[in-house]
Amino acid sequence: MTISATKLLGKPVQEAILDDVKEGLAAFAASGHRPPKLAAVLVGEDPASAMYVRTKTRTCEELGIDSEAIVLPDSTSTEELLARVDALNADDGVDGILVQLPLPDGIDTEAILDRIDPSKDVDGLHAQNVGMLVQKRARFVPATPAGIMQMLERAGITIEGANAVIIGRSEIVGKPMASLLMHRNATITVCHSRTRDLPGVCRGADILIVAIGRDAMVTKDFVKPGATVIDVGINRVAERERIEEIFGERADWEKFDERGYIVVGDVHPEVAEVAGALTPVPGGVGPLTIGMLMSNTLEAARLRAASAD
Ligand code: NAD
Repeated sequence: MTISATKLLGKPVQEAILDDVKEGLAAFAASGHRPPKLAAVLVGEDPASAMYVRTKTRTCEELGIDSEAIVLPDSTSTEELLARVDALNADDGVDGILVQLPLPDGIDTEAILDRIDPSKDVDGLHAQNVGMLVQKRARFVPATPAGIMQMLERAGITIEGANAVIIGRSEIVGKPMASLLMHRNATITVCHSRTRDLPGVCRGADILIVAIGRDAMVTKDFVKPGATVIDVGINRVAERERIEEIFGERADWEKFDERGYIVVGDVHPEVAEVAGALTPVPGGVGPLTIGMLMSNTLEAARLRAASAD
């Protein structure tokens, strides 16, 4: 396998984002404000979700942002969760609220997201914030697509006039990604599970953003030579045969034996042979998300401070 793609690493971009946040935090403190505070609500015991919440609160700690993880049992009802959200909305000491998704079956996710005070909605999923993003006057942009924009810009990828194809139409990645790229004058195609000739549509992309949730689904024949490919997928693959199929001799069996799974993106590793630039999984998009969440939390605190002045 001859790798031609430049690896777009998330860590240096995350560091640049966090440097900006640190500067902003210092200025915020210097003008007499208490540190921002983020409240993260986790319902149930999904290990990946628990890990994300831990990473978020740990990063807050490292930066000097206050944080609180509210961990609720799987059996929590929509009503109980709404009451928790109400309490956080009313708490003057809390600037940002995030409810870790996906919520367990049986909880009305839309009702929960609708209840979060839009001025504390650091994940940018409240209808008001979604509307503001679409109208190009965003307040809080969902952290993953916001981070991807930072990565594209810092890597010097041409966005204006580019054909950008997004696979996946989720509220958290695909849809906001489309708005952000459109606002930067790319030509947008959003693909999904019903798209006809998906590989053919993707081959038209100068920038291909992949957010599906299916391990290694996007293969070489989806990618125009030289295209920039952003792999958002995070899939835990626990079947030995599937890992063999994807990685062949390059499989990291040591890691597999240690953890019982390998984290695989939505993009097949063979895409590195044709793409011009490609984000690795892990180590690509993941770190950006956390960086932009910190940035949104600082912004929430700034907005609250400004409205109280
Ligand atoms: P989702 O699970 O809500 O939706 C998946 C999307 O993929 C849908 O819009 C669906 O139409 C599309 N899809 C499904 N099967 C398809 C197929 N065969 N062909 C074409 N399209 C298909 O999506 P999500 O929440 O955006 O998550 C997508 C992936 O990104 C997951 O692996 C998730 O773990 C990962 N993710 C990563 C980060 C990060 O920080 N790196 C953040 C969010 C999500």
